[in-house]
Amino acid sequence: MFMNLLQMKIAFILVVISAVMIFLSSWTFRRTQKIAGANELSVYLLLSGFYISGYALEITGSTLEAVFWALRIQYFGLAFITLSVFHLSVRFITGKSVPSAARVLLSIIPVVTLLAVLVVDRHSLFYSEAHISENGLFPVLRYTPGPLYLVFFAYNFVLTLVSEVLFFRGVLKSEGEKKKQSLLVFIAGLIPLITTAVFPERFRGVDLLPFALFSTGVFIFIALFRFHMLEIIPKARDIAVDSIDELLLVLDSSGRIRELNSSAQSSPLFDDLKVGDSLPEGSPVGTCFSAMSCSEDGEQDSTCKFEFKERNYDLRIYPIDEEFRPVKGWVMIIRDVTTTVRLLQDLEHQAIYDELTGLYNRRHILNLAAREVELARRSGARIGILLMDIDKFKLLNDSFGHLAGDAVLKKCADALTAVMRVSDLIGRYGGEEFIIICPNSDRAVSALIAERLREALERMNVRYDGNNLLVTASFGVESISAGPDTGLDELISAADKALYKAKRRGRNRVEVV
Ligand code: GH3
Ligand code: MG
Ligand code: MG
Repeated sequence: MFMNLLQMKIAFILVVISAVMIFLSSWTFRRTQKIAGANELSVYLLLSGFYISGYALEITGSTLEAVFWALRIQYFGLAFITLSVFHLSVRFITGKSVPSAARVLLSIIPVVTLLAVLVVDRHSLFYSEAHISENGLFPVLRYTPGPLYLVFFAYNFVLTLVSEVLFFRGVLKSEGEKKKQSLLVFIAGLIPLITTAVFPERFRGVDLLPFALFSTGVFIFIALFRFHMLEIIPKARDIAVDSIDELLLVLDSSGRIRELNSSAQSSPLFDDLKVGDSLPEGSPVGTCFSAMSCSEDGEQDSTCKFEFKERNYDLRIYPIDEEFRPVKGWVMIIRDVTTTVRLLQDLEHQAIYDELTGLYNRRHILNLAAREVELARRSGARIGILLMDIDKFKLLNDSFGHLAGDAVLKKCADALTAVMRVSDLIGRYGGEEFIIICPNSDRAVSALIAERLREALERMNVRYDGNNLLVTASFGVESISAGPDTGLDELISAADKALYKAKRRGRNRVEVV
């Protein structure tokens, strides 16, 4: 019996479609590492390609025997196509594979169907009756479905619906580009359903399913590869996470590490910490985590600062939770803030201390003095203030140079500190002027202290550049029982007057107001 032209044309188109699908399958297969769902799509395309080439063979067959052979080839693909779409939908939506137990269970009906089709001429479970009809444009198989055929049909229908529900969930749950991608996959999955619904019988003797499956394959192919930029974003995120200096850890609800970036892996804070480990108990990070993960204050994030091996760290924890659900885990970010902490410490030091002498600077000693005066005012105690000015310091600078002057200032500061009482406070008031606060000291005690300091300076011998530099200083002393009206300014200006008196009276001496 001759094949007519129409038969040949349809068979040719089907062979081309089948070849395209098998080519796309192998192309996709090489990219399975990069794109989630590509593996499953590759299998789908291969199965469909197989089925379609079997169908091309069926079209050209004109005897029942030839058609049955073509059917056997078709079912090696057709029996598993719906299952492959289901696998694809699960992978696409959840990112995970179908569990193996479910895989086995879901394969039972396709495998039984395939086995039944392989011996289709020996039983009536699949086709209760089948013959070749010559009524149409060309000979085609006509059949009455048997029970197994109906089971297989129902299985395909239900599994396709489940896959479509999954794809639709993807559409609802995703945003932006991912939403478009999910929508395209969802539409792709609808095509065979609609085709079967609109043309439950063959169209002029030709089954439309191959064309529907082809369209589905092409649509999903476009969805996966056209939107493959989506895969770049998580990768970019991985690169960013691994390249930052901050330590990043993801912990599950039981406190086990689920993910940690490169900085966390190489940090001296942890000793070979791996995914699956818990944070070492008693370690600074472990302690911070236990304290913070237990706090139920509802705060979005908490901070913990700690020191480890002379470095400073700042730890933040962000709970991963959904509304009205218990916490699912935590994101922990640890930053090495040593540089900042040291800079701050330097700044604090600079704000308080005079760089040259190491004594309190003017601003700080005046703050402390104001506080002491306030305390004395409240308790009615006496407080002494000593103003000290180095004698003829300009001359010293002029004769030996500014650096010699600096060395003298330093030595003076050391000598004064060495003989001072612990409770007294000293600061650099100006260029070569110092101020000393003596709590609980009346005029006589303050004058004695001043005298002791004056003598210490007089005894001091500064060696500089081969020269012996001799230093003396004059002191002005004031002490009062700070009454309600007495402030620091009055005290200082009184001490200043006394200092001038000391200068006028020949220097290197102590004067009391
Ligand atoms: P008197 O005995 O009257 O106090 O004389 P004097 O020369 O000490 O007085 P004057 O206030 O005129 O001079 C103070 C000098 O101290 C002037 C200034 O150059 C010098 N001086 C101020 N601060 C510093 C400093 O940080 N380093 C050095 N080397 N010199 C300083
Ligand atoms: Mg001076
Ligand atoms: Mg002076």
